[in-house]
Amino acid sequence: PNANLFCALRAAFPADLDAVAIECADGPEGLRYSWRDLERGTAMMANLLGSLELSPGSRIAVQTEKSVEALMLYLAVLRAGFVYLPLNTAYQASELEYFIGNAEPAVVVCAGRCFGWVSKIAFLAGVQNVFTLNEDRSGTLLDRAAAMSDQHEPARKNANELAAILYTSGTTGRSKGAMLTHGNLLSNAQTLKAYWDWQPGDVLIHALPIFHVHGLFVASHGALLNGSRMIWFAKFDPRAVIARLPDATMFMGVPTLYVRMLAEGALDRNACRGMRLFVSGSAPLLIETFRDWQQRTGHTILERYGMSETVMLTSNPCRPEDGDRIGGTVGFALPDVSVRVHGDGGRACAADEIGNIEVRGPNVFAGYWRMPEKTAEEFTTDGWFKTGDVGRRDARGYFTIVGRSKDLIITGGYNVYPAEVEAYVNDMAGVAESAVIGVPHPDFGEAVVAVIVPKPGAQLDAAAITTALKAGIANFKVPKKVFIAAELPRNTMGKVQKKLLREQHQRLFA
Ligand code: ATP
Ligand code: MG
Repeated sequence: PNANLFCALRAAFPADLDAVAIECADGPEGLRYSWRDLERGTAMMANLLGSLELSPGSRIAVQTEKSVEALMLYLAVLRAGFVYLPLNTAYQASELEYFIGNAEPAVVVCAGRCFGWVSKIAFLAGVQNVFTLNEDRSGTLLDRAAAMSDQHEPARKNANELAAILYTSGTTGRSKGAMLTHGNLLSNAQTLKAYWDWQPGDVLIHALPIFHVHGLFVASHGALLNGSRMIWFAKFDPRAVIARLPDATMFMGVPTLYVRMLAEGALDRNACRGMRLFVSGSAPLLIETFRDWQQRTGHTILERYGMSETVMLTSNPCRPEDGDRIGGTVGFALPDVSVRVHGDGGRACAADEIGNIEVRGPNVFAGYWRMPEKTAEEFTTDGWFKTGDVGRRDARGYFTIVGRSKDLIITGGYNVYPAEVEAYVNDMAGVAESAVIGVPHPDFGEAVVAVIVPKPGAQLDAAAITTALKAGIANFKVPKKVFIAAELPRNTMGKVQKKLLREQHQRLFA
């Protein structure tokens, strides 16, 4: 059998190909795509790629705004047997130069308005084919594809052949290209379909970007593999999404999306009456958001944990018989994924003991693109991938992420886990959120520093916070300096950029 991921997704299309597959919620009035449109559109684009005489394994780099055509392009790349390489739309010239230089794609697809600078970078890097694709369904990619046949036999693939290279978000350093195979992606999509109990008739609101694992794989694969309709938002708009909740059963978001919806008065039980499941991930969900959501909507958000290198690893349960969804945790290891917590010497941690999270399973990537040493470094000698996240497992099997090993602070020889201090600070009156970082200190090696964001209208006093902290947690964990800030620096996936905060406060004690 052909292990091409496209074949598995295509096999899940409903019998009635004229049914609506994707409904655009913020596009031109009434814009819809049937399953037949997806079938034909991906065939035509795959035929276009096939006509370019690309060598096997060629990368197709795509930096376009979110559109259904962009999703079809992803599917067409799978179908044609090439390697999809999505790029964050926020990336500017110097960043694009790095990605194109590093990945050496055979084809680059960009927005028409960026053609000037993108094509220059691409041509200088030796890329032969640069196409444009715009949000309004125009551009040379579609012009060229329109002349192609709408019949296409999916390329034959083995499960261990590359399907995509996903560059990590660059939260802790330079982005690395995670090489994901057809088998990685399909196994994880099937696992999630079963664990999240996808039902016939489920409808997904898709409001995430599609250059990242969350929107491209978790959300899109979920709906496609279930033959489910998507209500498609090119841009997230909290009010517009709330207005469409009654037409849907599933929603997936990063924590910031939940916070923004909670700020809307229209979010209530009635708006969520038809919903089956809300999923959150990509960054930690504040316990307060988890509770507020429960109170306002009657729904308990399911938090899950994953990364570009592995797609999804752990998830809170969906079915009541599998257990409760516990706020602040990321749930259990997924059924076919092994997750362990190990100490620095490679020793297995006891229940509730904090250590490094390491994983193994059919979902774990094939390595970092063109970084064999880095790849080797990130696997243990017995073959487990070191996620770089630090956490613990409780006696029942629920995992909690307490931070990243790179964010761990060592001050005067003591380990401080930022998440522990943050949780404490976040519980204080008037605090919206916080970030705890380590900065160089002449005596302690590193000093703990907190950046705290007040709730709207609240006045916070740094000295009072420090006093309160001293009464509550061990002295070595108490920040040596507290800053009150209007907001935390975040990237497009809602991840706090601690790297930037550390740079900003690097000379504080110098
Ligand atoms: P880089 O690897 O380049 O530093 P990154 O790790 O942020 O960037 P991604 O692969 O997009 O890039 O993100 C994966 C990371 O996101 C995980 O390793 C974890 O730290 C974090 N993450 C994902 N889901 C959750 C969650 N539910 N709770 C806490 N952290 C999460
Ligand atoms: Mg990472």
